[in-house]
Amino acid sequence: MTTSVSIIGAGLGGLTLARILHLHDIPATVYEAEESAGVRTQGGQLDLHEEDGRLALEMAGLTEEYRSVIHRGGGARRVVDEQGRVVVDRPDDGSRPETLRGDIRRILLEALPPGTVRWGKKLVSAAPVGGGRHRVSFADGSSAVSDVLVGADGVWSKVRPLLSDERPVYSGMSYVDTYLHDVDTAHPRVAGLVGNGALYALVPGKGFLAHREAGAVVHTYVVLHRPVEWFDAIDFTDAPTARARVAAEFDGWAPELLALITDGESAPVLRSIYELPDDHRWDRVPGVTLLGDAAHATVPGGDGANLAMLDGAELGTAIAAHPDDIERALADYESHMFPRSRKAAAAAHDTIDFVFGAGAPAGVISLFAGDEGPSA
Ligand SMILES: Cc1cc2nc3c(=O)[nH]c(=O)nc-3n(C[C@H](O)[C@H](O)[C@H](O)COP(=O)(O)OP(=O)(O)OC[C@H]3O[C@@H](n4cnc5c(N)ncnc54)[C@H](O)[C@@H]3O)c2cc1C
Repeated sequence: MTTSVSIIGAGLGGLTLARILHLHDIPATVYEAEESAGVRTQGGQLDLHEEDGRLALEMAGLTEEYRSVIHRGGGARRVVDEQGRVVVDRPDDGSRPETLRGDIRRILLEALPPGTVRWGKKLVSAAPVGGGRHRVSFADGSSAVSDVLVGADGVWSKVRPLLSDERPVYSGMSYVDTYLHDVDTAHPRVAGLVGNGALYALVPGKGFLAHREAGAVVHTYVVLHRPVEWFDAIDFTDAPTARARVAAEFDGWAPELLALITDGESAPVLRSIYELPDDHRWDRVPGVTLLGDAAHATVPGGDGANLAMLDGAELGTAIAAHPDDIERALADYESHMFPRSRKAAAAAHDTIDFVFGAGAPAGVISLFAGDEGPSA
């Protein structure tokens, strides 16, 4: 009997796994909570690294497709001070190609047989039914029984409780997403400040990380280290008030920087960062495992999506290598994934300290001026 794999979550990790399984003719179904591929924009640009994200796409046979969506020029880096004065300005040297997350997801979706992803399937529970199989139940009342179950369902994974009692905890920092569109015409001063690539304006504990994306869009993460209760007191459904409250944290900064918050055309979106312990792991449970943020959510050190994709590629390869011994495949995968993610989580914390710590913005200035430092 051919083993089939049930993957919960059509993020980059789950889709990379599905693609690798497809290349090996192993049947897989991806159950995704969202109603369709286009229901929301997929977030900002990603710098896919040679040793993980790009390696995963190579294993998936999608390197040409990846190259076709690189945002040429988007790898430029600029650091400005609170008054918008340029401190470091580095052109795109091609070493850190940027792509839109939505483009990478589309490439993966297009490389799967039609019907692989079942949209509108929000997992509400999963329970063992014996022999390593699990019944997965969805919010629409339907259910299915898995041979192999993979939780690729992100930070708030509903599969994780089968393996681990850990719950994500608030990291102490949140990102607020804002977007400015048609920037050359509608916001020329902001467009001039940001330039072609990424803009950093930082002081200890807070700042702006803005990117110029394809299509004359500036996407900004406003980063604030504040307790979760501080954000709870802001009504993000009331966009003007939320914008004003967040902008007040940057009182006295350059108008072009404040405009990244106050002039946004869409409502600001709060992304509170929750994380699992750096050394999160579990004992083997027959027929089920986790990948990506479901397994090792941490602070945004610039590698989370990359690691999710590598997890997916390695898990798919391990299942293909041992299709008749799934426990061996899952144990092999986890034996590499656990130490890799522990090391990456520690590195992500180092990066956040380096970028937003007491010495900010000295870390990013030295990094972009060509000195050594963690990858940001
Ligand atoms: C502000 C910010 C900036 C970041 N920047 C970068 C960066 O520059 N580079 C980088 O590498 N990483 C970055 N990351 C980290 C990266 O976004 C994550 O690590 C990555 O998305 C994890 O991928 P994943 O496939 O594991 O999970 P996700 O991308 O979270 O995908 C999970 C999928 O599962 C679905 N799902 C969730 N629950 C259910 C359910 N119950 N039933 C069915 N489906 C479900 C979701 O809808 C989603 O499609 C950033 C993160 C944040 C918050």
